[in-house]
Amino acid sequence: MNAQDFQPLPPGKNNIILGIDLGTTNSLAAVMTPGGPRILRDKDGNGMVPSVISFGPDGRATIGSAAKAHAVENPLCTVYSVKRLMGKGMADLREDLRVLPYRVVGDDATRLAAQTQAGKPSTTAGAVAAASSGHADTTTAEGGCATEAGGARPTESREIVRVDINGRLMSPQELSAMILTELRQRAEAALGQEINQAVVTVPAYFDDAQRQATRDAGRIAGLDVKRIVNEPTAATLAYGLDQKQDATVAVYDLGGGTFDISVLRIAGGVCQVLSTHGDTHLGGDDLDREIIDLITGEIRSRFGQNIQFPPSTRQALRSLAEATKVRLSDAEQTTVEIDLGDGRNFQRTITRSEFESLAAKWLDRTIENSRQAVNDAGLSVEQIERVVMVGGCTRIPYVRRRVGEYFGPGKLYTAVNPDEVVALGAAVQAGILSGMKRDLLLLDVTPLSLGIETLGGAMGKLILRNTTLPCQAGELFTTYVDGQTAVDIHVLQGERELVKDCRSLGRFQLRGIPPMPAGAPKIRVTFLIDANGILNVSASEERSGKQAAIQITPSHGLTRQEVDGMIQESYRSAREDMAAHQLIDTRNEAGRILRAVDKALVNAGALLTADQRANLDATVAKLKTLLEGSDADAIYEAVQAVNTAATPLTQAQMDEVLRQTVKGKKVEEF
Ligand code: AMP
Repeated sequence: MNAQDFQPLPPGKNNIILGIDLGTTNSLAAVMTPGGPRILRDKDGNGMVPSVISFGPDGRATIGSAAKAHAVENPLCTVYSVKRLMGKGMADLREDLRVLPYRVVGDDATRLAAQTQAGKPSTTAGAVAAASSGHADTTTAEGGCATEAGGARPTESREIVRVDINGRLMSPQELSAMILTELRQRAEAALGQEINQAVVTVPAYFDDAQRQATRDAGRIAGLDVKRIVNEPTAATLAYGLDQKQDATVAVYDLGGGTFDISVLRIAGGVCQVLSTHGDTHLGGDDLDREIIDLITGEIRSRFGQNIQFPPSTRQALRSLAEATKVRLSDAEQTTVEIDLGDGRNFQRTITRSEFESLAAKWLDRTIENSRQAVNDAGLSVEQIERVVMVGGCTRIPYVRRRVGEYFGPGKLYTAVNPDEVVALGAAVQAGILSGMKRDLLLLDVTPLSLGIETLGGAMGKLILRNTTLPCQAGELFTTYVDGQTAVDIHVLQGERELVKDCRSLGRFQLRGIPPMPAGAPKIRVTFLIDANGILNVSASEERSGKQAAIQITPSHGLTRQEVDGMIQESYRSAREDMAAHQLIDTRNEAGRILRAVDKALVNAGALLTADQRANLDATVAKLKTLLEGSDADAIYEAVQAVNTAATPLTQAQMDEVLRQTVKGKKVEEF
């Protein structure tokens, strides 16, 4: 990320508060800008820092992607999932310890009967108060998400865990601090200034000890943690849900290794967690494992039960399985190919529906957890008005389908990148704390027109600027090539007439249209913007019933100034733009006429006189020549000339159809 991507922040220098999603698998940082919250990215565009720390033989630590690469060769010195250890004692970690390859030790000598009060920083990193562990339901009020999360809880003694790296004992707080330091340094490099304040998110079920441990980690990393915010609350902040009318919201978070479902009540800008449920060992990794089991099972039955899969092969299989799962979010099927050596080659096509049947039992569990969370909140599922989707696995179409089936249609919020939504929400909270105005574009009208790309690069507007929200608009489109089975829907925003001058908001494809002649399919494109400014674009082919959809937040990343600038530019360019749009329309019409003439010539060309044919050929040739230029008026006239010259052909074709109909019939049959 370049510093110039960011506009100057209103608060004075060194007053930036970083928003941080300190995740089990990946961590991200974001800042508030006048155009809304933005993720901080490295020069390659990566925002995510894997929450992995690897120690070399000299004790030096590497953090992030480079550390992750060492996981296979150096398992004892590569620490991941440290979030699972935060604020926990040995007794709480029995299940985790079985799967973590590095050494975790208890420290009897430092067993403390801490009497730390909630919210009061402990003096020793790791000396923290304890409450229940695991998935305790929490009821937490966060005003604007304004009050501290986590109330006072009874304290008890808890043994401190440490990670043993070649005899060097490190607390989870120190390890988490390394990840936070990496994020802080990245942010400082991107923004060109020192940062020493942050808002950090934690799961809603984190108890006081876990929250305090997170705060301590921040302090070790040189960050004053101004606020600990619940992850589901951050997700609703990223969507601006706290700003509009009161609502009851569920946040469904399915990541790589954990699943969380929370029910929140937003009223008067205050966000209250009513209930949380989940499974700290359920996520994308389980779906990957299903694919691995399918592949290894078939390899063994084809090439012998005694085939072994050493750790390096297992790691490769894990990567392959994950890539397969990700590909199946876009494609209906994908082929995996594995070279087993000795001329043995395994190839297998996996379809999306096959993957869905493997994933079903895991999805059942998430739905069961959701049902419990809704019950615990004392609500019926109908009372949940929106469902915010968080975590990489919510990109899986099957996950969206199942969640949509349970909560009801039209409630899912998927517009914000599910990997980034929590960090973006943390930045929104940071912006509030530093006194910045909120996303200025959360208006009650659409600030700019919205539409789709039409043939030839023109912008077809469906919703005009200044339309009051919520609103809906639809239009019918069709294909322009015979047998076309897919159409690209490119969603645009802006006041200009050409695609190249508008802002691209997203694209999706409507696939599986049965082959039909050009112009026959009826593709209805619908734009629906809800009261929160979330745009749902759907496309359906009416004859076949095929459907596809995308969700977008049109206001993201635009400042009031940028919007005004775009509108001014459209006034200045209005005349040229109209001419350009007219040229595109005229060319499209010319293309349609030329295709129709070609078709008619095949059917009835032989019926024309030589003169008629010569006349038609000449006008067609002239039109084709003019199409190489950009004189819209001349093309328009040439189209009219072709139309006139083609009249005898149209007439002959109609006569021929009539003759075929009449042939062999008696007068009394008419
Ligand atoms: P998170 O913990 O939120 O970063 O989510 C990571 C999980 O999301 C991993 O299991 C990824 O394989 C999975 N994931 C990310 N993108 C996709 C995608 N497009 N389709 C399916 N799974 C995905």
